[in-house]
Amino acid sequence: MTEAVKILGLIGRAVDYSYSPLIHNSACEVLGVPYYYTVFNIADPLLIPDALRGAKALGIRGFNVTIPYKKTVVPFLDELSQEATSIKAVNTIVNEHGKLIGHNTDIAGFASPLLPYKERITGKTVCIFGGGGAALAAIEAFKRFFMPNEILLFVRDPEKARVIVDETDFDQASPVTILRSDNLEKIKGCSVIVNATPIGTRGREQGGMTSIIPLDQKLISHNQIVYDMVYNPLDTPLLQAAERAGAKTISGIEMLIGQAERSFMLWTGMQMPVAAVRTTLLHEIHNNKPGFQSHT
Ligand code: NAP
Repeated sequence: MTEAVKILGLIGRAVDYSYSPLIHNSACEVLGVPYYYTVFNIADPLLIPDALRGAKALGIRGFNVTIPYKKTVVPFLDELSQEATSIKAVNTIVNEHGKLIGHNTDIAGFASPLLPYKERITGKTVCIFGGGGAALAAIEAFKRFFMPNEILLFVRDPEKARVIVDETDFDQASPVTILRSDNLEKIKGCSVIVNATPIGTRGREQGGMTSIIPLDQKLISHNQIVYDMVYNPLDTPLLQAAERAGAKTISGIEMLIGQAERSFMLWTGMQMPVAAVRTTLLHEIHNNKPGFQSHT
């Protein structure tokens, strides 16, 4: 008798082309463990409670959650981790014997590639472009792992961003200053520049996105770290500009793998075979159809 396959999946809208099935199924194949990861497209947010109740009834082991449901799922879970509580957003659900526990692995996944540069961040100013869910995960990661002196958030609509930031439980250390994204005077003083907008994503130019880079190359200097959450293409226009300016660059693929590694551990109790997964993922991204990026 072979062991029954445990089901994992991604809850989101229009997530057919997500890389997560490839990441998790290739990890399971390398390890020879009986899990299968699939996608669950849910068009209507009103169906989220039914989906979660069904998951309990069916014994589904866990989920990733992506746009637009990271906050929607929160009231329907039985418990939340500390990280998920702080930003009131969940990207990973674990079914522990009928109890659904919400986690947020985007936070540690974001922090992971920055850890070698901790002394360049603690007590310094950092900045983030974007005011959505990914930006909140980055803010929490900076606060939790690096304690910068100040976090600047550059957004199109400061009032909207203020509401989103005020809904969180961020502690008072490392205050967040919200600025309009055309007010970039303070950028020179930032040790890290993060892009948490979709600007630069392959195919978005044709979709009406006029800008392919969130800031001018002239504003980037060699002593800065530039971290683009966009990973398709791997070498985004922002990372190319940062390389030309002599800055240290970090691709969004590091966060993609970092969050997946932590979700995988929560579901299976096993270490993801990261090197093998990275090779498979890079091969897929190089051969990818243009126009799609999901962060899980
Ligand atoms: P989101 O919640 O939809 O937020 C997107 C943010 O970007 C919003 O603040 C939005 O501003 C802003 N924005 C969108 N288009 C813009 C433009 N053309 N110019 C300026 N600002 C713009 O999305 P998210 O979950 O935060 O994700 C943001 C990006 O990070 C996505 O590309 C996602 O794929 C990527 N990501 C990657 C990873 C990874 O593992 N590498 C993880 C998470 C997210 P408005 O509110 O004004 O529209």
